[in-house]
Amino acid sequence: MARDYYSILGIEKSASAADIKKAYRNLSKQWHPDKHKGDKDAEAKFKEINEAYEVLGNEKRRKQYDTFGAAGGSGGGGQGFGGFDFSGFQQGDFGGFGDIFETFFGGGAGGRGRTQRSQRGEDIQVRIAIEFAEVLHGCKKTIAISTFVSCTDCQGSGSQGGKTVSCSECGGTGQVVKTAQSFFGTIQQAMMCRACNGAGQVPEKPCTTCKAEGRVQQKREVTIDIPAGIDDGQTLRITGEGNAGKHGTPAGDLFVIIQVKPDARFERHGNDIHSIISIPVVDAILGTDISVPTVHGNVILSVPAGTQPKQVLRMKGKGLPQVSSSRMGDQYITINIDIPQKLSRQEKKLMEEWRKIV
Ligand SMILES: [Zn+2]
Ligand SMILES: [Zn+2]
Repeated sequence: MARDYYSILGIEKSASAADIKKAYRNLSKQWHPDKHKGDKDAEAKFKEINEAYEVLGNEKRRKQYDTFGAAGGSGGGGQGFGGFDFSGFQQGDFGGFGDIFETFFGGGAGGRGRTQRSQRGEDIQVRIAIEFAEVLHGCKKTIAISTFVSCTDCQGSGSQGGKTVSCSECGGTGQVVKTAQSFFGTIQQAMMCRACNGAGQVPEKPCTTCKAEGRVQQKREVTIDIPAGIDDGQTLRITGEGNAGKHGTPAGDLFVIIQVKPDARFERHGNDIHSIISIPVVDAILGTDISVPTVHGNVILSVPAGTQPKQVLRMKGKGLPQVSSSRMGDQYITINIDIPQKLSRQEKKLMEEWRKIV
């Protein structure tokens, strides 16, 4: 069935946008299902009017229609509006319906197309675990991910070359209407046509490699530069490393969630590191130098004479760096003092003598 949208709306091909809207408003009121309950012909007419306006009411689609005509071979009523069902609205008054209608069919210029058309590929999320010590200098990690990449056989166009034809799935409108039941009745929602990605046009000779999608799935390696100072749970966003978009649209982004593996020796507090060291009681009394593990390697710490249990000593600059800053955190060492539970004969003798003099 060849559909002449202009004659459906009873207007000339040269009609202005305002004329089209006016004609549509009059006709849709005239043929509204509320006024023709149970009349199948009126319902079909109403659908037809809406379909015509759907195309002619949108400048871009109207232009496509003028150039290419209606969808080839979609026939009877148009697939774009298959399953159109107004029964749910029959209890509502016309005014209310009109508002809903505006919402679904975009009374404004190209409202739906703008929001529903997918403009880029999907984002991808991956997780990478790094060692605690790798936080100090940052690191590079290479991972293999399976993503969509632009099809090299058609340079992402999805076409073997030549012209495009109107999409048969959506009748060239780039939109399909889905019907769902809700508390308020039947709701029609306009969805982007998946077959043409909302373009309304498909290649006449589709690329066979990518089945006209313009992209193919491929396993590829990505090297991720993880900055020094990164914290557990932080996410890096790598622009353009997600899935390639369909039909040559830009790629999505790659989101890398960083997991920093714990290290039993260290507890991280932002850029500072906390740790606990046990020393013999005599070292706490007399003072000593001990070798302390830090993320910078083992470092000698001077424990002053008379150090108290749970006393905290600071090692300046032995913590972790701040992301994109030269400031380095500190390491705080809590001193644990070992009191011997058993003494040798000689130790006991010395302690007894000490007791006599304190
Ligand atoms: Zn389509
Ligand atoms: Zn291709």
